Amino acid sequence: MSTNARVGGEVDAFCTKCELLLAHTVLAMVGPKIVRVRCETCKAEHAYRGQVVPKGAAKPKARRSTTTAAEKIVIGFEEQLKGKDLTKARAYSPKESFVAEEVLNHPTFGYGIVTALRGDKIDVAFKAFEKTLLHKRPDGQAARPTFGTKATPAPQPTEEGQAALQPKDPAPSTPDEGSGTVGS
Ligand SMILES: [Zn+2]
Repeated sequence: MSTNARVGGEVDAFCTKCELLLAHTVLAMVGPKIVRVRCETCKAEHAYRGQVVPKGAAKPKARRSTTTAAEKIVIGFEEQLKGKDLTKARAYSPKESFVAEEVLNHPTFGYGIVTALRGDKIDVAFKAFEKTLLHKRPDGQAARPTFGTKATPAPQPTEEGQAALQPKDPAPSTPDEGSGTVGS
């Protein structure tokens, strides 16, 4: 547990503001215990509570099948980083040349993935910037088929009620009994 913990070092901690498990900078320690950290995302300082995620908060790694769209973005970044060889991540420098999908190690923001090349600029997704990504949800999110609710079966009327209302038409939805054609 308390292997590399040191003041000024980085530690994953749950940020109550961001409501995520995020990279924090260790601000104070008592012996081997981290007692105070600063969230690298919102820069808020708070007591270190370990890597415990409170109940009801977003869990980055659990419940994949029922995650919301916002959580999927977080997981996507985490898994992208897992797929990369972080030992080969080059330290970021404006003098370096990076390629798309490359992992770099920024002295302040930590590991980031190059998402786009724009001339002499690169767009980089950092772990600490997950909240920003959540705010930039593209319209493509709505492109998923969310209108397929026509097949929802309406509750069948009781035979008694239906017969009482319309005695001449006892079967509201006649099932196919062999006579496919009607009234010709
Ligand atoms: Zn935060």
